[in-house]
Amino acid sequence: MDPDHAIGRVHSRDQKSMLEECPRCHLNVLPMAESLCPNCRKSILDLAGARPELTRLSIRERTRMPACCHQCGTQTARSVRVREVAGPITDTPLLQGIVQLLVALVGGLFAALAVSASTSKASRHEVTIFLPQCEICARGGQPRPIHTDFDEFAMTFLVHVRFKEQILRD
Ligand SMILES: [Zn+2]
Ligand SMILES: [Zn+2]
Repeated sequence: MDPDHAIGRVHSRDQKSMLEECPRCHLNVLPMAESLCPNCRKSILDLAGARPELTRLSIRERTRMPACCHQCGTQTARSVRVREVAGPITDTPLLQGIVQLLVALVGGLFAALAVSASTSKASRHEVTIFLPQCEICARGGQPRPIHTDFDEFAMTFLVHVRFKEQILRD
């Protein structure tokens, strides 16, 4: 076995295990001196005002969701539609959009779908996820992603650790 390679592997594993999730900003960080989070500059050991039961999770479109509220982790059959649309669409020519609109008006839905399917995957600039949210948490408002990845069709949410456990188990 190549000794350098083996050392490299051990080294990278150690680096990874040193990353800790900050209980405030929920980023995986390498704590600075005195256990300070390099992002929010608070101690990751001081849990006052922190929400350690929450964690960041990236969820892809069409992921099978558990019957578990993403915010509080209780059982729920209710879910809400979260749709994110990218800002100005730069790589879709205006003409293509007009053609699509005309086809939709003249040829009906079927023809419009055919045109949509013929355009490249990269030209779709929206992501829709049906996220489980119980009635009580819904009173606090519509869930909003921390980040949306339009290339991966994924959104990152702050979720309850129980929801994460269940989604990873399914
Ligand atoms: Zn932090
Ligand atoms: Zn809830």
